[in-house]
Amino acid sequence: MLRFTKRIPDRCLGCGACEEIVACPAGKLFLEDLCIGCGACQLACPGNAISMFERTKTKDIKIKVNAE
Ligand code: SF4
Ligand code: SF4
Repeated sequence: MLRFTKRIPDRCLGCGACEEIVACPAGKLFLEDLCIGCGACQLACPGNAISMFERTKTKDIKIKVNAE
């Protein structure tokens, strides 16, 4: 199941832990289109301010194997 996270502003403590601790594999936190739903930011958040959502539409991806 493809997922993505969002920060819930009302719950955010502004501690900055998500920005400072997490090496987001998407390159930047909370970009819905790029998020792979790894959950690292959610685990790092002390305020329970990051929620996981399921994608309603699938994403097309292309991968290369042996340069093809
Ligand atoms: S750390 Fe993972 S779950 Fe959080 S925004 Fe980045 S890719 Fe998405
Ligand atoms: S770790 Fe959680 S509480 Fe801290 S700034 Fe990020 S979203 Fe807000």
